Amino acid sequence: MSKHDQRAPLTFVICGAGGAGKGSIVARLVELDETLWLSRSWTTREQRPGESDNAYVYVSRDEFDQHIRQGGFLEWAQFFENRYGTPVPVAPSGSDVVLEIDVQGALQVREVDPAAVVVLVLPPNRSEQRRRMQRRGDTDDHVAKRLAKSDAEEDVGRVLADLVVVNDDLDRTVAEVAELIEGRRADCTPRPI
Ligand code: 5GP
Repeated sequence: MSKHDQRAPLTFVICGAGGAGKGSIVARLVELDETLWLSRSWTTREQRPGESDNAYVYVSRDEFDQHIRQGGFLEWAQFFENRYGTPVPVAPSGSDVVLEIDVQGALQVREVDPAAVVVLVLPPNRSEQRRRMQRRGDTDDHVAKRLAKSDAEEDVGRVLADLVVVNDDLDRTVAEVAELIEGRRADCTPRPI
């Protein structure tokens, strides 16, 4: 039995406003650590052109709402006109869970799992944040809406977060988050008597 098999999976929540770079951080974390399991969210929004089929489970509003009624989500939130939700996680044995979600979802996860570790990712500044959203093809209207929401999202995230990282250098940011993950795992690992 590995040390990890002796404890329940930990949940690491990576949250932040649009364009903060949560997706790049999470992709790197799971690439570097095969015992981190990334949950795939459900969404009612349409797949963006060029977006991977695996980015989300794309469902209709009816399917989403039925899943809510069946108790199938750990958390879910309405984000602008669409719904997003984390299915109740079933991580492979020996893995910890990573969620890439918005701050409303992070609040809910913390409520159901007080031991969940929350990381708030901040963009270096609003112009870089705008550039990142434009680069991935978001419409001007959508970018403007997400920028307008960012201050409020970050205020909530700061109160909640165990770690706040400014994502100006991906390698450094990933290293900071990985260090937090390792530290939390070490705290939870039973020490030999
Ligand atoms: P996007 O449409 O840009 O992919 O995502 C919009 C927002 O929803 C992002 O902040 C993203 O992190 C968040 N999001 C993605 N999946 C989930 C989820 O399962 N739950 C919650 N609460 N937010 C999510």
